[in-house]
Amino acid sequence: MRVIVIGGGPAGIRATRTIKALKPDTEVVLFRPEYKSLIYCAMPYVIEDIFPVEKIYKKDELITDIGAQLIRQSIVEVDLSSKRVKSEDGSWHKYDKLLIATGADPIIPPFVPKGLTNVFVFKREEHLRGVLDRVKSGAQKAVVVGAGSIGIEVSQASNKAGLETHLIEMADHILPNLIDKEMAEILEEKIRKTGIHLHLSNPVQEVRGADYAERILLKDGTEIELNKNDIVIFSIGLKPNVELFDKSGLEIRKDGIVVDNHMRTNIEDVYAAGDCCSFYSGIDHKPILGKLATNAVPMGKIAGINIAGGDAEYDGFYNGAATIVQGIRIGGTGFNETVAKGRGFSRYVVGYGETTTMFPIFPDPGFVKIKLIVNQEDHRLIGAQVVGTMCITERIDLLTFAIQNKITVEKLAKLSYSAQPYQSFFPANNAIVIAAEDALKQIG
Ligand SMILES: Cc1cc2nc3c(=O)[nH]c(=O)nc-3n(C[C@H](O)[C@H](O)[C@H](O)COP(=O)(O)OP(=O)(O)OC[C@H]3O[C@@H](n4cnc5c(N)ncnc54)[C@H](O)[C@@H]3O)c2cc1C
Repeated sequence: MRVIVIGGGPAGIRATRTIKALKPDTEVVLFRPEYKSLIYCAMPYVIEDIFPVEKIYKKDELITDIGAQLIRQSIVEVDLSSKRVKSEDGSWHKYDKLLIATGADPIIPPFVPKGLTNVFVFKREEHLRGVLDRVKSGAQKAVVVGAGSIGIEVSQASNKAGLETHLIEMADHILPNLIDKEMAEILEEKIRKTGIHLHLSNPVQEVRGADYAERILLKDGTEIELNKNDIVIFSIGLKPNVELFDKSGLEIRKDGIVVDNHMRTNIEDVYAAGDCCSFYSGIDHKPILGKLATNAVPMGKIAGINIAGGDAEYDGFYNGAATIVQGIRIGGTGFNETVAKGRGFSRYVVGYGETTTMFPIFPDPGFVKIKLIVNQEDHRLIGAQVVGTMCITERIDLLTFAIQNKITVEKLAKLSYSAQPYQSFFPANNAIVIAAEDALKQIG
């Protein structure tokens, strides 16, 4: 069997490795245009100068050491009816099974004049190097548009690199897709304390300039003047890389290629995985955005198992994610209140719990605050948010597991936990249990 994988990101790599692990005799050929695949999540820390660009290269051996073939070329045409794809050197390649893992690219709003030399998005090596070059050659200001995780991390990096940094968000709080306003406030305060100018409820109205962005105008009338070397980075959303398949017969929505829970498309022997796909939430089984590496990897694994002849199902996105600003960690999973309401969950309750993260008899014992969102109809957890000084992702993962397994708030209130002076509150309590008990009181 010959499998062609288009795309060398987390989905393509994981699928390739899965197929070769399960069926070593399968010929797998992976196409990707980049010289190296990047560990995207680590890109902001290159601007902070914590490590050089080369340190965030993924090893090609992840593909080649397992006997798969890596071809550094784009696929420029597809003919799915005769099961072949054309690479940029003009040659056609036959496949028995195809995996599309072409990812998604960040967007720049249409009102921004085209070709401005200091306007960037932040995904590829050339974007990172473009930003780095400017930081090193005298940039004084950075304007980061979009206060999601990437925007927050990039703005911190520019701030640490010594640039006057503006972080601009159209919603009334940071991380609007992940966190609710009252949970975000602690981090917003921290962001402001670092010296970043945080502009909330204040979308960019206009970008003026001929060769470069000279002036950014915000809704409230604020104008940010820039010179040639200054940087504007848009981190406001993604568009799936699917133009190649426009006339291929594949079913494609605005957010990507439609796949079933086996990662099969509507065309036989054609699979898709990762950011290029449209998929649904594991909570209500309706479409939801989930363009995260932590979704792309399991989708790639499921696709790989099924391409190799297995029978694996993906149950949906839960979208657990987190970020950090100077020691304050924040994250969420499932639906926040805005998302829950938007998806028709009108009857839900929320519960809060807060403890220190060490026995409170220590100096500076830190804190952790939990918010739970519980569907009043069936008492199941549908969302959770965590902010604090320690072990945030671990708590988010535990709460994702609870959502995934349809755990009720009654069960969560009985969570059996561990305690140790340096790593938890007193054995007397736990923030998740306190939050669950609080939610139970609201349910009555
Ligand atoms: C700065 C940054 C920080 C991030 N931080 C996090 C994080 O902390 N946690 C998290 O979970 N996620 C994070 N993400 C998101 C995560 O990186 C993506 O969700 C993930 O990379 C998606 O994987 P993918 O394999 O679907 O697509 P991609 O990684 O986008 O890979 C797509 C691949 O397909 C190739 N390709 C496209 N078109 C063609 C073609 N025609 N022919 C051949 N190859 C093609 C591309 O060149 C690329 O190699 C971050 C992203 C960025 C940019």
